[in-house]
Amino acid sequence: MTVHPRFADVTTIGVGGQIADFVQPETRDDFIGAVMTADDAGRPLCVLGGGSNLLASDEDFDGVVVRDARHTIAVQPLTDEQKRKDSRLVRISADAGVHWDDFVAYCVQHGYEGVEGLSGVPGTVGASVVQNIGAYGQEVATSVLSVETWDRETASCIELTPQQMRFGYRTSALKQSMYEAPAVPSDSYFPSPRYIVLSVTFGLHRAVSGVVDYAQLASALGVEVGAHMNIDQIRTMVLRIRAKKQMLEDPARYANPWMVGTTSSMPRHDEINDEDNSISRIRDRWSCGSFFINPILKVSAAATLPDDAPRFPTTLSDGGQGVKTSAAWLIDHAGFHRGYPLDTVPDATASLSTAHTLALTNRGHASAQDIARLAKTVQQGVFQAFGVKLVPEPVTIGIDLGWESRSVDERVDE
Ligand SMILES: Cc1cc2nc3c(=O)[nH]c(=O)nc-3n(C[C@H](O)[C@H](O)[C@H](O)COP(=O)(O)OP(=O)(O)OC[C@H]3O[C@@H](n4cnc5c(N)ncnc54)[C@H](O)[C@@H]3O)c2cc1C
Repeated sequence: MTVHPRFADVTTIGVGGQIADFVQPETRDDFIGAVMTADDAGRPLCVLGGGSNLLASDEDFDGVVVRDARHTIAVQPLTDEQKRKDSRLVRISADAGVHWDDFVAYCVQHGYEGVEGLSGVPGTVGASVVQNIGAYGQEVATSVLSVETWDRETASCIELTPQQMRFGYRTSALKQSMYEAPAVPSDSYFPSPRYIVLSVTFGLHRAVSGVVDYAQLASALGVEVGAHMNIDQIRTMVLRIRAKKQMLEDPARYANPWMVGTTSSMPRHDEINDEDNSISRIRDRWSCGSFFINPILKVSAAATLPDDAPRFPTTLSDGGQGVKTSAAWLIDHAGFHRGYPLDTVPDATASLSTAHTLALTNRGHASAQDIARLAKTVQQGVFQAFGVKLVPEPVTIGIDLGWESRSVDERVDE
């Protein structure tokens, strides 16, 4: 009998039920074939990367999970015109299955600037463009030249341009294809998008230094925002900051037989001052990273927030003026502090991270239901305090954290 993993084995938060069929294609044709076979049979399909942005329910998943087992990174030739326009340009492609931080490490090692600020973000190249990962002043969108995809609608391969990808804050056309409304899954494509990423081509630059574009990073490096630093130093400092905030994966997960071989270069603990190995600290990493997206509000809604709430000008999806606020601030000021509820319930199976208010963590024996219950408590508390509906960032399979089905008073719209 073939054995398949549970979602708990292949996700960073370590919860989730048995997967009926788990396939790891090693060629491009087999990857497309696995997706087509599932779609033709009308079976639920989840294309999985590193499982770092996924919360699956404790129920069995009666469908197919496909995880790309290809790990090739290749520098591509430039046309004469590309060389003329930008003499430092490097075109570099990576299979969807490449571990994201392996890709960043490769680029930094070879002196290709453009993604060093995204060091240590868990997951794969394929998923990086689905939610347009961002951290420490960089977003993947700014480095993407094209995305090679399998279109499940037309059963054909399509190369998407950055414009067609419609990148936005933690979103893209791919992510949008999965939802009817924030956190409300589409009937057609969920939990994976209409376009399955086969590979991504990035445009980076040959340069030993990069721009430090984030205040916290600049202060840790002892430079001004906008200063140039060696990309290797930027990478090391980003990893150190992430280690301190427990926003790295628990490297021990790669000892799980279902994860072996999916990465080649986890950073060494001593290189990044990552030496606090207490159980509590390690459990802080059993998460999906930031669990809620920073809310983007209409100007009128933002005006009802307390004066000291963070406010950053932004654009609404309809092109109007909006305000981005901080989900972490709202959660903290609604009374959910780091570690909640461990101070009153020390044996809680699910809690906020003890290092970061925005991460929901599995303290060792949590079920998906425990995580979902905590998420709803926080959503409800923030709504009651500030009238803001927090939308989860992770893809939730079999767990409803949307607002459509909830009977709450709709005071403030997004
Ligand atoms: C500790 C921690 C820290 C984090 N920090 C950050 C951060 O700083 N910034 C940030 O932006 N995110 C962060 N995240 C979230 C997460 O790392 C990213 O969202 C990441 O891109 C998810 O990649 P993945 O391969 O694990 O995706 P998965 O969780 O496996 O999948 C997520 C979604 O992408 C889809 N998907 C996966 N592969 C493909 C493919 N080939 N084609 C189409 N769809 C696909 C899946 O179907 C699913 O819908 C963090 C997470 C953790 C656990």
